[in-house]
Amino acid sequence: MMWSTLSRAIKCWIPEEKRVPEKSYNGSLVLLIPKEATSLLKHQFSIGEAEIWRQNENNREIFVKPPVATSVRRVLDENNVMYTVVCEDVQNAINAERFLQNISVQRVLKNDFKMSWDKYHGLKDIYLFVEQLARDYPKRVRVVNIGKSFQGKMLKVAIFKSKKKNAKKIWIDGGIHGREWVSPAAVAYIMKELAQLNVSGNSPLSRIDFYVCPIVNPDGYEYSHTTDRFWRKNRSITKLSCQGVDLNRNFKARWKRQKKCGEDYAGDVPFSEPETKHMSNFIKKHLQNMEGFISFHSFSQVILYPYSYPLDENSTVINSSHYKNMVEVGERIADEINKVDGRLFKALAIHKFTDGAYGSSIDWAMDLGITYPYAIELRPDVSSEVPGFLLPPSQIIPASKEALAAVITLASAILKQSNSGEKNKRKIKKIYG
Ligand SMILES: [Zn+2]
Repeated sequence: MMWSTLSRAIKCWIPEEKRVPEKSYNGSLVLLIPKEATSLLKHQFSIGEAEIWRQNENNREIFVKPPVATSVRRVLDENNVMYTVVCEDVQNAINAERFLQNISVQRVLKNDFKMSWDKYHGLKDIYLFVEQLARDYPKRVRVVNIGKSFQGKMLKVAIFKSKKKNAKKIWIDGGIHGREWVSPAAVAYIMKELAQLNVSGNSPLSRIDFYVCPIVNPDGYEYSHTTDRFWRKNRSITKLSCQGVDLNRNFKARWKRQKKCGEDYAGDVPFSEPETKHMSNFIKKHLQNMEGFISFHSFSQVILYPYSYPLDENSTVINSSHYKNMVEVGERIADEINKVDGRLFKALAIHKFTDGAYGSSIDWAMDLGITYPYAIELRPDVSSEVPGFLLPPSQIIPASKEALAAVITLASAILKQSNSGEKNKRKIKKIYG
């Protein structure tokens, strides 16, 4: 009785999301500039009117808001910087995406509801799909609610059990960043494949237990569908009066306090957010035999492994066989994805990809002792012709197949390692009695 009163009180305290008109991106630009030119735009980045969306060795894709669009172009021109306009008006690109989404909605509705991979589905559709999997494949799939988001939405995990006793486990998640729509879509595709798998067959997927959370950030994902297409964080309100926390900076792994509210605000303290708290508690509860961890993001076509901060080249950590093995499997994942559709993916440590991603989930997973933790940035790459977050729906299936190749490669590596581990154990037993 007391508990129900308390939970009602907590629920009352959670502020209702105010209905606001959809955010317009009229006049916003996306540019591809050479890496060296970023220092010329320090001022625009510091006032939050320009943002680096993604980077590779040579280029940066930057998003520029209207107030500084003219000044950004002027600075680049005055310094003779060669740059490409990826998108002249971001709102037009969003409208084009919506047009493609609507065509697909009509087709899906005609055939009654079924999950499809020719459009980006909202939270409700994805959750219906997850529940449908559990109903259609009751022996194979079990769905658990692991807690609620800041706004009280369920966090769902589907568990796919193999027939093997004490099987190794892989954790898979998607949608930790709202605007990265291809991530939950690809994770849903992987769930379908896992559910329909012949568990008596030879696929490496049939000998691993999978724990899959399609959307770690349901509030942010929903908000990116209804109100702000490029919303990244969750929807909490922090002590700093910052709207939203970057959940992938909120894990307790060299977490860093930030003085300013920004797109990657790490929260007031580590695990301040219900989403990261529930996810980490659940993983810790199922940690035994958990060897793999993949968090799907978009975009850039890279396989990222720990750490978010550079370690000394002589450090025992990066010279350990364990670390080298993890790097090697990351490179194998990139190679196997490349084979799917000829897209180039690269494996690298997070700190070489982005600055200061302290408090990321894969660093935390590594610290926890999970052998192979990766964050995979799906299609497109930085030099794409469309703003990367607006990957056309026609590319969901190819992107999902690449994501599936990553999971299969990781499952094979874990099984291979566990077999050789068993053999070694037997050998040692033979030698030493
Ligand atoms: Zn992301």
